[in-house]
Amino acid sequence: MWPFKKKASSEPEAPRANSKEVGIRAAVDEAIRATGLLKPEAANAIASFINEDDCTRAVLRHRKREPQISDVEKKKLGIRKNGFLSQKALSELTEKGMLNALYAHEAVTHRAMGTIARQHLINAALEMKFEIEYIASHQTECRTCRELDGKSCDARSASPFPPERCDDVNCRLVIACKIPD
Ligand SMILES: [Zn+2]
Repeated sequence: MWPFKKKASSEPEAPRANSKEVGIRAAVDEAIRATGLLKPEAANAIASFINEDDCTRAVLRHRKREPQISDVEKKKLGIRKNGFLSQKALSELTEKGMLNALYAHEAVTHRAMGTIARQHLINAALEMKFEIEYIASHQTECRTCRELDGKSCDARSASPFPPERCDDVNCRLVIACKIPD
């Protein structure tokens, strides 16, 4: 599911031309800040999910941890009785996050992963001296991402973060290397 960290640790890192490279922590911080779903202290947990092979399962494990919140608390949050939410996961939710308590950690994780994936593609484009091209998801209703769809630019000026005016919490904007004609 996460194709970018399969590299053996003995393999040397490719030189990176992009000095503004965004690491996992910066991607997570942006996702927490932009979504407003989690408190900043959730950053370590989210970063650890991203390092897992299956981050969706890692999020679920986090929610399933003991001790769980009580059925009364679940009811208050509008969570079904058999929905898992650990006290730890609850403590990381902002008020906004509590409106969608079972989804907040996953949404933040996926947003951060999107940023990291875009950073990898920017790095690849820089190495090959290609331009990058934006591809909007077919599913997105975000106008900003739709307007970017098919546009290309110099990889050096591309940002791995979701566009500032993107209104999709889980921004699915993809960056691809533009193969020259
Ligand atoms: Zn968008």
